[in-house]
Amino acid sequence: MSNANKRYLIYAFITLFILVVPFVRINGNHLLLLSFEKFEFHFVGFAFSVSEFYVMPFLLMFLFIGIIATTSILGRVWCGWACPQTIFRVIYRDLIEGTLLDMRRVKNKQKEKNYSKAKTILLKTIAVSLWGVLALMIATNFLLYFVPYEDFFTYLNKPSEHILMIVVLLSIALFLLFDIVYLKENFCTYICPYSSTQTVLYDDETKHVIYNTNRDQECTTCEACVKICPTHIDIRKGLQLECINCLECCDACTKVMGKLGKESLIEWGSTKSVLKNTKINFFNKKNIMLSVVLVASLLFALLLASEKEYVLATAEKSDSLYRIDENNVVYNSYVLAIHNIQEQTYTYDVKIQNDPNFRIRRFNPPQLEAGQRKKKILIVETTKVSSISKYSNTTYKLELIVFAKEDPKIQTITHLAFIYPQNTK
Ligand code: SF4
Ligand code: SF4
Repeated sequence: MSNANKRYLIYAFITLFILVVPFVRINGNHLLLLSFEKFEFHFVGFAFSVSEFYVMPFLLMFLFIGIIATTSILGRVWCGWACPQTIFRVIYRDLIEGTLLDMRRVKNKQKEKNYSKAKTILLKTIAVSLWGVLALMIATNFLLYFVPYEDFFTYLNKPSEHILMIVVLLSIALFLLFDIVYLKENFCTYICPYSSTQTVLYDDETKHVIYNTNRDQECTTCEACVKICPTHIDIRKGLQLECINCLECCDACTKVMGKLGKESLIEWGSTKSVLKNTKINFFNKKNIMLSVVLVASLLFALLLASEKEYVLATAEKSDSLYRIDENNVVYNSYVLAIHNIQEQTYTYDVKIQNDPNFRIRRFNPPQLEAGQRKKKILIVETTKVSSISKYSNTTYKLELIVFAKEDPKIQTITHLAFIYPQNTK
C-alpha cells in the first residue's frame, strides 16, 4: 500500500474519532470537555470543577513531553499524518479540487490553474463553497469540545441570546476558509511554531524523510518528487523546514524507480539508517528516558482522575479568634464553603472526627443542587481540652467530615484550626 493510501486511512480514522468524541458520555459526564460556562473539565468520564484542576498539569505535561518524544523519535510524523491542517488541505486540494472537480492533478501540486477562464472561476467558486460548508461543520465540531452538545443545539435555536458563541463559531469557520484556501502550506512554514522548533529535537536516529545521497547517480532527474510536494521543496537538497513528512515524494519516487526495478531513492528513515546503512535503534537511552517520563505523567493524570473528590469543602476562620462564655465554654466560628459536584441534589451535614471533646454548636445543613456551592456558618464548641498553655493560645487541629445525608459515601474531610485561649489563672 502506498504511503498516501495509508495516510488516507489514518486521516479517516482520526476524523471519525474527533467527530464522535464530543458525543460520548460515561456516567453522565463527557469523554472530553472543557466548559468555560460551567467551569468544568471532563476527562474520560470524570468531571472536575475549576478547584480540582490539579489533573491539568499532568495532562499538559503528557502533551508537552509527548510532542517532544514523538518529534525526537519519529520526526514530523504529526505534521504529515495527523495534523488537522494537513488533513484539511488534503480534503480541499486533493479531494475537492483534484478528484471531485478535476481542477488539478494530484501528482502535480506546482501547477496553478489559469483563472481567466469562466469555467475555472466557476469550479473554484464551487470548491470554495463546498469547503465553506465543511469549515462550518468543523467549527461546530470544535466548539462541542467547549460547549456540551446538549446545550449547543439548544443555544443554536436562540442565537440572539448566545451571540458570543455564534461569533466564535463563524470566526473559526472563516479562519478555516482563509487558511485552507489562501494560506495553504504557508501556514506550516511561516506561522506554525512547531515547524521552527522541530529541527532542534532531531538527531542522527530521528526518523524523517530522507533522500539517499549514496545513490545520487541513480536519480533520473524526472522531478516527480518535486512536482508532487505540497510545500514546493526539493527533498534531494536535504532536510528542510518546509517538509511536513507527508511522504508523497517517496511514493512518487517509488513509482519511478519501480519501473527500473529499483527501490525508491527517498525513504522514511534516519540519517544513520539510510546513509550509514544501519538499523534504527528505537531503544536508545534518549527514547527510553522520554518514554518513561511520558508513561509516568499519564499514570499520574489517570491516578489523580480516579482519586477524584465526591464533594468539595473548605473552612475559613471568621474574624474573631474565639469566644468564651461564663461557663468557660470556648467557641470558634468558621465559614464553611461546600460545593456539590454531583449530578443530583444532596443535603450536606458535618461531624468532627478526631476529638470527642469538640462538638458542633451551630450548623444548618444546606441542600445543594447539582453543581451548586454555598457558604454556611459553622460554630464549634468545647469545655474540655487535653492541655492548656500558660503562655499562648493553643491550636487544635480538628478533622471535619462533610457528608451527604442521603448517601454518606459522598463525603470529604476538611481541617479546622480551633484556637483555645491560654490559661491566665
Ligand atoms: S519533501 Fe516529501 S515529505 Fe516533505 S513535504 Fe515534500 S513531498 Fe512531503
Ligand atoms: S522522483 Fe526519484 S528519480 Fe525522480 S527526481 Fe525525485 S529522487 Fe530523482
